[in-house]
Order: sequence, then C-alpha cells, then structure tokens
Amino acid sequence: MKHNSQGKRSLEKYRKYDISSNKRLPLIGIPCQTILSTGAGELSIFSVYQNMASAIAKAGGIAIMIPPYEGDKLKEIYYYLDGLLLDGGADINPQCYSEEIKLKTGPIDSKRDKLELLLTKWGMEDNIPIFGICRGMQMINVAAGGTLLQDISTECPGANRHAYHPEKPSTYLAHSISIKPGSIIHKHLDCTEAWVNSMHHQAIKTVAPGFTCTGFSKDGIIEGIEADNFNFLLGVQWHPEEMINTDVRMLSLFTAFIEACQASAGLLT
Ligand code: MN
Repeated sequence: MKHNSQGKRSLEKYRKYDISSNKRLPLIGIPCQTILSTGAGELSIFSVYQNMASAIAKAGGIAIMIPPYEGDKLKEIYYYLDGLLLDGGADINPQCYSEEIKLKTGPIDSKRDKLELLLTKWGMEDNIPIFGICRGMQMINVAAGGTLLQDISTECPGANRHAYHPEKPSTYLAHSISIKPGSIIHKHLDCTEAWVNSMHHQAIKTVAPGFTCTGFSKDGIIEGIEADNFNFLLGVQWHPEEMINTDVRMLSLFTAFIEACQASAGLLT
C-alpha cells in the first residue's frame, strides 16, 4: 500500500498509544493457542478466547495476543507488557514437569507450552503481575516447579466430576470452593465459599514452592493458588471470565489484576 505524507500525518494524529506515557492503559499479553479451524482446513490458526480479551478490556486494560515467537522476537514483545494473562486450553505436556505422558493426557500444544513457560519464568523473575486461569493456573504451578494430576478421574477416583465442557454451558455452577481467609481470592470475592464453573480434567498435584493453595473444592481438588511476595501472582482453576455477566464479583479478580499492572508499571489510574 502506498502512503503519501498526508496519509502518514493523519495516522499520527490518531495514534494514542505511547509506550513511554504513564497515562496509557496497561498492556496485557495473552499467549495464543493453536487451533485447526474447520474453515481453514489444514491451515493452522493462533487464537485467544474472546471472553478473556473482553474481560481484560472491561477491567481497564488492553489485551494483545502473543504468537509463539522465540528468542529476541519474543523478548521484544515481552518488554512491552505490563502484565501476563495465561488462559485455558490444551493439556500441558507432562514432560514439562518431568513425568511421562499417561493415556488420558492430550492433545498437546508444544509451541504454546514453550512460549508460556518462558514468559511465565521471565514474568516471575521481573515480578510483573501474572493471572493464570484453568490451564493458566497449572502453567504457573509447573513453571514454578510444581506438578499436575494428568487426569482427575483416573488419579483421584474418589473426586467429583470437574469436566463439564462442552456438555454444560460455561456459566454452569458445577461445584463450590472453599476460600482461604485473607487471600487475594477472598479479598475480591469477599466470601469464604463460592460456586464456580468447572471445565478441567487435570488439576494441580503438588503445589510449587513459594505458593499457597487458597481455594479448593470439597473433594480436595486445588482451585486456587497464590504466591507471597509478588505484586500479583494468582491462579484459579475455574473460569471467572465466563461468569462476569452472572456473578459480578468475578470481574473484580480482573480489576485487581489490572490495578496491580498499573501500579507495578507506574501508570496513572
Ligand atoms: Mn473444578
């Protein structure tokens, strides 16, 4: 496309995003996943859940999708981020926590595993706010040295059902969770028991060093983890982004995350 000088000038006029400004909105990176869309045939597509990008915007941030770049290209994107949001999706390769793949694990998205492990480790080293949801909570735990149950029903035969997708709507309240008093989850949901959705067949087995379990279901499945001495490092096993319209408290988790991003980046609110 050809640009004349007039065109460039009018583009400048509408450019409001200045990375060096402390008046801008926090930029939240969401590592993308790979899907094979029916419409695209064998052509691979990178994607992010729409409700997650919407939740970030609703809470006052801007979401950008991070493709599985490597090396300097990935670092370049990372340096722009004020926060990292780790979303749900495919099972994490058990080799990431030094276990062999068992029968019920899969499919695996290796590019995404690699991308998220790197970003999570960098984010923790630099203490930028990180919010992990479902697989995202599991990713934080794995990146920090914890392990996962590869299949709840196989490895915890006494546990209740936690995998309700796609049979039930994403707003379906599958089970209650107990919330640790004084935790981030407690502070923002303002209760010690809440009903949540549940769309996972894996869960945390051993909690990573430095983390505390702050939410769990009655059958003992871990539903929330937090790390001390960080700006904001929270993981939840349920999907608050799917519940925003049915339980307004769920938005407050995103608002708290965005506020932490603003504070750590020195942005004006
Ligand atoms: Mn659950």
